[in-house]
Amino acid sequence: MSNRTIQVDERLYDYILDVSVRESGVLRKLREETAALGGVARMQISPEQGQFMAFLVELTGARRMLEVGTFTGYSALACAAALPPDGEFVACDVSKEWTDVGQKYWQEAGVAEKITLKLGPAVETLQTLLAQGQGNAFDMMFIDADKTSYLQYYELGLKLVRPGGLILIDNVLWGGAVADPAELDEDTQAIRALNEKLHTDNRITLSLIPMGDGLTLARRRI
Ligand code: CA
Repeated sequence: MSNRTIQVDERLYDYILDVSVRESGVLRKLREETAALGGVARMQISPEQGQFMAFLVELTGARRMLEVGTFTGYSALACAAALPPDGEFVACDVSKEWTDVGQKYWQEAGVAEKITLKLGPAVETLQTLLAQGQGNAFDMMFIDADKTSYLQYYELGLKLVRPGGLILIDNVLWGGAVADPAELDEDTQAIRALNEKLHTDNRITLSLIPMGDGLTLARRRI
């Protein structure tokens, strides 16, 4: 026992999956098809993270959610399924090829009507949403795209998410590289800069969860 976060080895991780993950058949099929794409499958969130995010949707009663970085649509499917029937999930990505994989399963799971896909650079999409009067119109946001744009997504997100709304940011531990001073590549530095900014940002309340590759929860203060 320890007052520090437990180290999760393979055996313990399998146990966590065994006793807590309730992945639907459609989500499992989507994960398997994504795994077959090879190395890029690392960009998919883990099943326990998908379940945690869906839990947050349910817990907060979110109706409208925004995502930056949809990839093959696992998080979109998990979260859209947890939204109410009249909920809306706006999914932003640059890749038709990857999001096409997701569309198939969104249809199969019966959540496609809740999901609006916006293909194109997400900074532009978010700026367009603001220009269309969508400020303060989202209850939740998930940021999981190119790391060098994280600060921009976060700042735009703070305008798009309502006071009291939640912004989730993925990969904030970046395989541990953020804590290694020798790691100076631009992705690592971008994530470090975001983490440091959020630490002292009094517009939000903050929690960094060591789940997956590190997930930050930032709630816009009311
Ligand atoms: Ca990610």
